[in-house]
Amino acid sequence: MISARDSIVNDMFRLIGREHGCNDVRARFYPFKEFKSTWCRSGGRTEFKISDYLQNADAGVLEDFSRCLFSRISNKGRREVYTDRLRSWLQSEEFISMNRPLYLERSRNLSLSPVGRFLNLKEIHASLKDKGLSQDSFDAVLSWTVSQNAHRVGYCSVIMRVIGISSVLDTPSIPDFVAEYVLYHEILHLESGLASLTSGHDRDFRVRERMYPNWRTAEDWLKKVATGKIVGT
Ligand SMILES: [Zn+2]
Repeated sequence: MISARDSIVNDMFRLIGREHGCNDVRARFYPFKEFKSTWCRSGGRTEFKISDYLQNADAGVLEDFSRCLFSRISNKGRREVYTDRLRSWLQSEEFISMNRPLYLERSRNLSLSPVGRFLNLKEIHASLKDKGLSQDSFDAVLSWTVSQNAHRVGYCSVIMRVIGISSVLDTPSIPDFVAEYVLYHEILHLESGLASLTSGHDRDFRVRERMYPNWRTAEDWLKKVATGKIVGT
């Protein structure tokens, strides 16, 4: 049985596929944790699994998204530019309120609380604001991770506006500014918005990152954490 929403996305992708010379196209929504979509081509057929965070998008947004994916396929993987209509849907209050709860439910590695055993991410964020390093209009969800990852110390979903900080930093053995620096790094991604999906850690990003007063010492601490020289409590 194919659901009504799946048949909408399927019809749209088949229609746009024909414009690109793909006459055998199947598409359905898929519950990926991240906002992502995949496709595979075999024997002349192209099958898409589309992020189910787009389930509530209107036909125009789905149309733009399918054009994006087909152009990504023909450009051999080069990332497409999202249209204004698609961007404004992905950055709308409506998109966040519909999808963030589901995203958080799927984020098994987040404690879903800014309050750690020793440090409170909300207080750390307030300290960044005092330093003029974060804006007042901050609406992201801040959470510690459940597992103490020493290599991936911070994580940011730009689309869902969620930041996770590794609980390996939530210990009196590491100065507070290390977690603050990591939070600052993730906030920079958030502030770059959808552009950061393609620009990543470019020159401009690094310049802004180095506006953090203790960045060098913080980096040294993170190296020690990554090599296991600091063990969380
Ligand atoms: Zn980063």
